[in-house]
Amino acid sequence: MNIKKYLRPLNIDEAYGLLQSKNAVIIGGGAFLNLGNREVETAIDLSKLNLNFIEEKNGEFLIGAMTTLRKLETSSFAKENFDGVITKTLSCIMGVQLRNTATIGGSVYGRYGFSDIITTFLALDAEVELCNGGKMSLEKFLEEKIDRDILLKISIKKDNRKAAYINMRNSSADFSLINVAVAMKDNRFRICVGARPKRAKVAYEAMSFINSSEVNEETALRAGEIASTTLQFGGDIRASAEYRKELCKALVKRAIMEVIQ
Ligand SMILES: Cc1cc2nc3c(=O)[nH]c(=O)nc-3n(C[C@H](O)[C@H](O)[C@H](O)COP(=O)(O)OP(=O)(O)OC[C@H]3O[C@@H](n4cnc5c(N)ncnc54)[C@H](O)[C@@H]3O)c2cc1C
Repeated sequence: MNIKKYLRPLNIDEAYGLLQSKNAVIIGGGAFLNLGNREVETAIDLSKLNLNFIEEKNGEFLIGAMTTLRKLETSSFAKENFDGVITKTLSCIMGVQLRNTATIGGSVYGRYGFSDIITTFLALDAEVELCNGGKMSLEKFLEEKIDRDILLKISIKKDNRKAAYINMRNSSADFSLINVAVAMKDNRFRICVGARPKRAKVAYEAMSFINSSEVNEETALRAGEIASTTLQFGGDIRASAEYRKELCKALVKRAIMEVIQ
């Protein structure tokens, strides 16, 4: 990446204004951007905007966009809530060095199909807050065409959901070839499948089945089968669509069983 101007605005309005200029880009941790050879006119570093925080307010957990993956992974919030699913998810991503650099903002705004944390946030029914677009569910954010906005924070309701995250990788330093997160609140499941290899999706038909069944190994597997036939899967260098479908059945079953145990 070649940067002509590197700026650290002191308030969000200034950052948003700069982002509207030609060929401007937000820099989070810069880990992913750094892989490309893009010519950037204005790089906007958000590090002076007080977006590096994890806090609890009005029954919600708030995670600032500039919080690194490692800070979140090792936080007492991530370890002590939702069965530690956030810590478990983040600890799968590359090495500590990368997790000390990459941010939650870059990870969510990037909407990467391979993302591990998006799948887990989706199962936890997280919301995003954007500078211009305001607050919306992560699910909607993943589907909307949003451009030139700034992600400020993620919020997750403090609702004591139980949750589990499972992924399959060819090697520990590779991307997930499929990942599954399941959460349960008031005996109702939310099942999400990511790295299909497209963006994570909520498996509504599988949820509707399991939420109207007695939960056991057999029905958990059936929910996995429904997810594998109702969601779309594709092939890439990591795995074929057929392989992903097969894995989806087993991973959904395992994640449901983990949540109820
Ligand atoms: C070698 C490598 C391996 C990886 N492996 C995995 C993996 O296995 N699993 C996984 O889930 N992830 C993986 N990642 C992705 C990583 O976890 C981060 O998601 C990624 O680096 C983006 O975070 P960042 O802070 O570096 O963002 P940046 O590189 O700074 O930015 C990424 C994109 O988001 C935009 N952006 C950043 N912050 C904001 C914001 N607050 N508002 C609006 N736009 C913003 C940038 O303009 C850019 O388009 C990997 C990354 C690398 C470099």
